[in-house]
Amino acid sequence: MFLKKFKFLNEQVLEIIKEAEVSASIKVASEICGLLVDNGYFIELIKVKNKTKKGGGFSFYYNEIRLLQSALQIMNHEIIGTFHSHPLYIAKPSESDIHNSNDDSYMLIIDVLDKEIGFWYIKNSHATKINYEIISA
Ligand SMILES: [Zn+2]
Repeated sequence: MFLKKFKFLNEQVLEIIKEAEVSASIKVASEICGLLVDNGYFIELIKVKNKTKKGGGFSFYYNEIRLLQSALQIMNHEIIGTFHSHPLYIAKPSESDIHNSNDDSYMLIIDVLDKEIGFWYIKNSHATKINYEIISA
């Protein structure tokens, strides 16, 4: 089922952890969010605006997502899921994260306190931890 090896770019992972830290330091519990995009080589982290202005959650602006979707389609890149940060919680999807995600999609979570990421596959309201590889450009 998970024969595919998921790769993330070290530079992007470090950058996104830093952005998550900055966001949480500016405003308590403020999360960052974005899309996981398979470009055929690795999983790209594309940050988008968080519509949820109060901390402790995230949501997307659908116009922004639609625009990205059509641009990515032209390049043959596939959106496989989403990422967001947990300023005050471990790198594991919460009940509402699972509830609000698309079925059969991937979710990357940034644990801001421990500067870690967790990668998950969501199916039938269940999250399974997935192994990944970190590569350098
Ligand atoms: Zn969450």
